[in-house]
Amino acid sequence: MLLVVFATMAMMVASIVMTALDRVASYANHLDEERSRETLVGAVQTFEHQLGATLLDYTAWDDAAANAYDHPDMAWMISNFGDMTFDSDLFDVAIVLDAKGRPQMAYSDGQPLEGRVTGYLTPALMGLFDTVQSGKSGLVPQALGFIRTQKGIGSAGVALIRPKSGEISQPRENYVYLAFIRHLSSSTVERLSEAYVLPGLVLVPPSTNKTSVTISAPSGEAIASLAWTPRAPGDQSREQVKPLIKAALVIVTIYALLLVVIGNAEMRRVRRDEANAVKLAQTDRLSGLLNRAGLNQLLEDTVRHGRDVGEDVVLLYLDLDGFKEINDAYGHATGDRLIRAVAAGLAVLVGEGAGLARIGGDEFGIVLTGQDAQARAYTLATSIIAFFDEPVLLGERTVVVGCSIGICVSEGGQVDGSELTRRADMAMYSSKDGGRGRWTLYDPRMDEERETRNQMEIDLRSAIARGEITVVYQPVVDAKTFSLVSVEALARWTRKGHGPVSPDVFIPIAEASGLIDQLGLCVLSQALRQLSHWPDLKLSVNVSPGQFRDPAFVDRVADLFEEANIEPGRVVLEMTETYFIQSPDRARLALERLKALGLRIALDDFGAGFSSVGYLRQFGFDRMKIDRSLVQSLDRGHRAVEMLQATVALARSLGIPVTAEGVETEQQAVILRLAGCDQLQGYLFGRPQTPREIGELMLRPMELRAKAAELAFAASRDGGVLV
Ligand code: C2E
Ligand code: MG
Ligand code: MG
Repeated sequence: MLLVVFATMAMMVASIVMTALDRVASYANHLDEERSRETLVGAVQTFEHQLGATLLDYTAWDDAAANAYDHPDMAWMISNFGDMTFDSDLFDVAIVLDAKGRPQMAYSDGQPLEGRVTGYLTPALMGLFDTVQSGKSGLVPQALGFIRTQKGIGSAGVALIRPKSGEISQPRENYVYLAFIRHLSSSTVERLSEAYVLPGLVLVPPSTNKTSVTISAPSGEAIASLAWTPRAPGDQSREQVKPLIKAALVIVTIYALLLVVIGNAEMRRVRRDEANAVKLAQTDRLSGLLNRAGLNQLLEDTVRHGRDVGEDVVLLYLDLDGFKEINDAYGHATGDRLIRAVAAGLAVLVGEGAGLARIGGDEFGIVLTGQDAQARAYTLATSIIAFFDEPVLLGERTVVVGCSIGICVSEGGQVDGSELTRRADMAMYSSKDGGRGRWTLYDPRMDEERETRNQMEIDLRSAIARGEITVVYQPVVDAKTFSLVSVEALARWTRKGHGPVSPDVFIPIAEASGLIDQLGLCVLSQALRQLSHWPDLKLSVNVSPGQFRDPAFVDRVADLFEEANIEPGRVVLEMTETYFIQSPDRARLALERLKALGLRIALDDFGAGFSSVGYLRQFGFDRMKIDRSLVQSLDRGHRAVEMLQATVALARSLGIPVTAEGVETEQQAVILRLAGCDQLQGYLFGRPQTPREIGELMLRPMELRAKAAELAFAASRDGGVLV
């Protein structure tokens, strides 16, 4: 295309240049023609004037007048006029005529004409004679004009012979006239040609050719033309510069062609580089899949196309379950290998017709479109989850990961890419909350829940700031005597306009939003202050894993103990095992620092999660708390009892004392005490209560002891199990 445009332009430029050159050339030719014509007209006139001047010299001459009138002498005439015609430049024919026009003497080229004189005395010459003879020639008795003789074309003149004074002492009928003719012989014409620089000048029959000048007789009749060969200087110059211009045009053409070719190649290269750069910017280096930017672009394009043709676009948002643990446990190199292996597996499952991207970390995105996109998405999600049922082999190591998926559909492309991503992400979180290893379709109610959660977070933040978080205390009793030995501090929040909110609800929100740092310290400081009023009691306070993220956590805890002036040995910090699974190294460090302060650490909720006795040994816990769920399972039969007995025995064998939580019935209390728990906690002994209530309880220690005695009696009566 560009080449065609360029060729057309080149041809146009060439034709303009050549046309301009032609115009300049023809104008130069024209100027030269004009100049030649003017020169030739002047030359013809000069030719005639010269003859006139010669004739004047010869006729207004006293000697000639004396030899014509005073003592007529033909011999003088012959030697002065006739002989002069020989090889003369001035005239080649001389004829002396009497008053009647009869020739008295006639010479041509130095020879007498004798009988041939009539060939010269043409009517035109006689016409000149008549003009002079009749006195019509004016002041000077002389007439000039071009005539045709038998010899050719020539300039002719007739004049009256007279003395210089002009006075002739004779009557008119004795007057003598002299005629001269100067022929335009070929040699004469040649001389003119040279003298006036008119190349190729020739005498030709009358012509109207542009490069000729007409010679006319006195009557006006055209009798001949003088023609010259045009020099055409314009043509010559043009011919001279033409090759140069052609060469210049060729050079310009080649140059421009090169420009087009190089420019084209350069443009293609730039486009290619640009495309490569875009591709690189949209590719994830680790997996070779699209990255987040690539997915965004793909979604944008797919949604636009979906909107145009009315097709659904489905996004599957995947997050691996347990990836972080593997990364922490085996290092980043293994984590990277896992990501690559998962990417390869997903690529096979997803196939050609869909887009696959690694959004970041352990998150992946899959884009489906087309008529049955929704159905295909559900099938795909199910097979992806099934794929993760199998352990993944990474070289020597075998790891197990799961996958939580969120699915969102943009029906007919009505939901744009970023909103689709947000919704699918939210659906994925719903899968996580729902227990991982599943897929969930986005539901608008998720937005509402998120909104409710956000609102709760805002309220919790201000509640903490306003000191509205209170602390209640749950009694912990000695398993044998049932005497109150300790209390567990538990946070309470009464949300304005909503009433009490369970810690199972607001503690996870505080953990997710980072509010747990302030909340945890607020509970600890309240509880420590309270403890200073209960010198005989010990205290348990819960600590969330998130609190360890604050590097100053241990220092802050130390400060609080200092402020409240509490002996750290009286306080147990309760932690769940999650943190020890997630970041074992950091957890160990934090534990060491806390224990260095003199604090003791309990493993809370044992039996609710992974429940590895190994942690007890590994991290050096000072106490284990058996989870409520385990305690309550005791009601279901022997197996549970045996399991509990074994667990407690194991802890005790490691020298770790055990507290049982959630004790609600006397039977549970009996079994737990028998199993080896040294402390019990649960509604049987007291619900979480206000400091005042705890204070009252301390004033009635007999109540609990009586209960213990009753229990011991009942047990011995039923078969002595407790003894
Ligand atoms: P936890 O640390 O295991 O606390 C014991 C929970 O069991 C308390 O629930 C308590 O009321 C309940 N409980 C005690 N005995 C019985 C019983 O006999 N039967 C039944 N059904 N439940 C019993 P609560 O107060 O709702 O707290 C729930 C969880 O919230 C706590 O479990 C703890 O993990 C967390 N939590 C509470 N306060 C704090 C706090 O200040 N900081 C942190 N990090 N977590 C806290
Ligand atoms: Mg606890
Ligand atoms: Mg617990």
